[in-house]
Amino acid sequence: MTSKTEKTNVPAQPTAATAVAVAKARGAQKPAPPAPKPLDIPQAIAVGELAKVMKVTPIEVIKQLMRQGHMFSVNEIINHDVAAEIATDFGFTVSQTAEKAESARLTVSTEGEDPAQLQPRSPVVTILGHVDHGKTTLLDAIRNTRVAAGEAGGITQHIGAYQVEYKGNRITFLDTPGHAAFTAMRARGAKVTDIAVLVVAADDGIMPQTIEAIDHAKAAGVPIVVAINKMDKPGANPDKVKQQLSEHALVVEEWGGDVIAVPVSALKGQGIPDLLENLLVVAEVAELKANPNRSAKGIVVEARIDKSRGPVATVLVQTGTLRVGDYLAAGPHKGRVKAMLDDSAKRIKEAGPSAPVEILGMETLPEAGEKFETVADEKTARQMTEAKAQERQARSGAGVTLEDVYTRIEAGEVKALNLILKTDVQGSVEAIRKALERLNTERTRVNVIHAAAGSITESDVLLAVASKAIIVGFNSQPEPGARTLGNQVSVNIRHYNIIYSLVDDIERALKGLLEPVYKDIIEGQATIRAVFSLGRGTTVAGFYVNSGKIARDAEIRVFRGGKQVFAGQIGSLKHFKDDVREVNTGLEGGITLEGFKDYQTGDVLEAHRRQQVGVG
Ligand code: GDP
Repeated sequence: MTSKTEKTNVPAQPTAATAVAVAKARGAQKPAPPAPKPLDIPQAIAVGELAKVMKVTPIEVIKQLMRQGHMFSVNEIINHDVAAEIATDFGFTVSQTAEKAESARLTVSTEGEDPAQLQPRSPVVTILGHVDHGKTTLLDAIRNTRVAAGEAGGITQHIGAYQVEYKGNRITFLDTPGHAAFTAMRARGAKVTDIAVLVVAADDGIMPQTIEAIDHAKAAGVPIVVAINKMDKPGANPDKVKQQLSEHALVVEEWGGDVIAVPVSALKGQGIPDLLENLLVVAEVAELKANPNRSAKGIVVEARIDKSRGPVATVLVQTGTLRVGDYLAAGPHKGRVKAMLDDSAKRIKEAGPSAPVEILGMETLPEAGEKFETVADEKTARQMTEAKAQERQARSGAGVTLEDVYTRIEAGEVKALNLILKTDVQGSVEAIRKALERLNTERTRVNVIHAAAGSITESDVLLAVASKAIIVGFNSQPEPGARTLGNQVSVNIRHYNIIYSLVDDIERALKGLLEPVYKDIIEGQATIRAVFSLGRGTTVAGFYVNSGKIARDAEIRVFRGGKQVFAGQIGSLKHFKDDVREVNTGLEGGITLEGFKDYQTGDVLEAHRRQQVGVG
């Protein structure tokens, strides 16, 4: 690896010590006022399920619906707005819109939960770091503490996540190391990880993927605990690692910072208890909570087809309790939990917050990172998954683009333009970053969340999706996989080879000055079959649509013998006697054009319109 990476200017992520300070501050506050009755309502909910979450009978809900003029039976699905109206009547505050409820679900938020129902939950940890620095070995070493602890069976199966117990507390580890997997989940809107363990080999120090991992964890706002690994090696130099970490705004505790760094040897199993202990400290101050007494919600960690058992999905319950028999909706996939196995392959009947479990009974294979929730019945599951499939189709192509940056800033939706910068050589990283930082004003900021020399990778694309960023390549091209993925998820990748035009474009985007680039789209073609006068100088052309459509708001070109004789707007468009918005293929209509009436039979009308395809 010759490429080098750079420090970025993302605000410092919450670290253990800042979390401690926050926890102390929190502790100083006195008890919260009596809780209102907040309720989190999904996009669609069955009447019976709404009754259940409000702890009233379905009859009461149906009666209230009738008073509001709606007729629904217990198993019918009502949408968020109707449900919210009813919930309000029952004294609940539906504090979130459907949109917000969705995002709250993604982030394991405890918002909208009855605070009295919240109970501590164990932390979910992901291991990140450079290749060969020992992520897999560390995951194995941690898993082995279970064997050492003499746990029944001893052997754990690999289901994508596992739990260990340390001093009476549990910690859940996601078994897929690496920031690509971590960010892939985030790109799907799933916030799974509470703490990131950054593995750095003591003999190798910080490497490009270490920096990438730091940037990914920071972008996710996840606290980092550093495991300085391979301490058994003769070349181990932990001080050098600490020095390098400080160059990336991670200052270890012993040097006056707030980052916990634990020396370990994953191979020899040394330092593991110390690492676990520190993870629990960070978890403790993060005050992780969930409500086990509600329907389950969580994330699909892994899924595969088993020859004899069908789709098998490992899911992580984030809130609520998942039970055998529950109906599940996971994006466009649904199913019913037929059986559940824990990480020791033991059959279990229920699983609470932070528990990873393998479930049988999905009808189709969900993707890793897909959010799931349990619903009242098969019908609700079907409606939700169908709605989700449609929504996804409608939403595809909704990535962040440079041209809408200004609109978003104006609308207060974003305050900063998140940007990932990839360049050909290390020297340009610094130059471009400095130039971009000069654009920062009180109102707008360019936030370079990751900057490195090298080609644009899939991991960059995922980070862009997860962080709503655009990617800027300076003499740097996407790898083929990254290009395909970028198209699929509509990440805006822009290329430059002159620093000035790069900076100028970003500046103009921030000021709303980017000129849109249009493409001419031909929508339809028609032939004039008759020309007649309506008196008072009005001439109408009767036409037949050969292909596409002629729409009232399209622009028209008139061709005669292959030559254009006019271009302009439509004055009126009729189908028989009616004014219409469009006339489609195979139909006839009458048209007048603004500023042209010299039609002749046989003229060809071409309807076209300009469509924005980007910015220049
Ligand atoms: P990953 O790519 O980060 O998952 O790294 P691996 O866990 O596959 O480890 C890469 C190599 O480093 C393997 O050969 C491991 O045996 C070795 N390794 C991992 N941890 C240690 C350690 O603590 N000490 C020593 N000496 N070698 C280690």
